Amino acid sequence: MTTDRSTVRRIPARGSNERSDVFAVLDAGFMAHVGFAIESQPFVIPTLYGRDGERLYIHGSAASRMLRTLEGGVPACLAVTHVDGIVLARSAFNHSMNYRSAIVFGQARKLASDEEKTRALRTISEHLLPGRWNDVRAPNAQELKATTVLEIVIEEASAKVRSGPPEDDPEDHGLEHWAGVLPLRFTQETAIPDPQLHNGIPKPGYLERRIRGTSG
Ligand SMILES: Cc1cc2nc3c(=O)[nH]c(=O)nc-3n(C[C@H](O)[C@H](O)[C@H](O)COP(=O)(O)OP(=O)(O)OC[C@H]3O[C@@H](n4cnc5c(N)ncnc54)[C@H](O)[C@@H]3O)c2cc1C
Repeated sequence: MTTDRSTVRRIPARGSNERSDVFAVLDAGFMAHVGFAIESQPFVIPTLYGRDGERLYIHGSAASRMLRTLEGGVPACLAVTHVDGIVLARSAFNHSMNYRSAIVFGQARKLASDEEKTRALRTISEHLLPGRWNDVRAPNAQELKATTVLEIVIEEASAKVRSGPPEDDPEDHGLEHWAGVLPLRFTQETAIPDPQLHNGIPKPGYLERRIRGTSG
């Protein structure tokens, strides 16, 4: 469903409401900024998420104000952004960014059963680092009790993407200023073992593959 609130008006050619375009942005990230209002004061809070089909999951301390507010069913808006480059134009005005971003609208539901919560926590964990969940101790009843897990069904969503060179005005093309793109990338370094790690525990395969940037 697409209504007024998720229709890209500013440079609509860069926007899309196709689920596949939105999911591509969501699946390439793991952190969302969650927006909600309390008595007309907006708050925007960064948090992890995981996706399972049309559902997003977020979690945290049962004492979190963000989660306690959202579980009341207030309208929520989640933004996920990947910055791909700084676009350097000949004019100050035409400078821009290359990016992929998604904005999701929905309302949260608090998961009640330990089974539902565990499944959702697994989704968040596997979204962040596939393979990790089965390699660690699962949460116990007390830990689950201290954790709030929310499900947000995507009501509507938009994606917006900019790529490519600067778009200078034709009359500026002759100006003697360097123009182009400075690509930016989010990278990861090699993993650092915990100083208390028992000798002989090898780095898991899924972590090695993630560091090498390969999957499977
Ligand atoms: C890294 C980055 C830097 C940016 N820097 C600037 C800047 O400095 N100045 C500036 O004006 N804009 C910037 N933008 C673009 C900005 O996100 C908005 O798209 C733009 O400002 C238009 O806002 P609006 O409220 O008029 O959008 P409208 O088109 O009126 O928004 C209507 C609906 O379109 C969708 N939408 C709008 N923007 C996005 C988006 N980025 N991603 C997904 N859906 C979207 C939402 O569903 C929104 O509710 C930047 C974007 C990114 C990702």
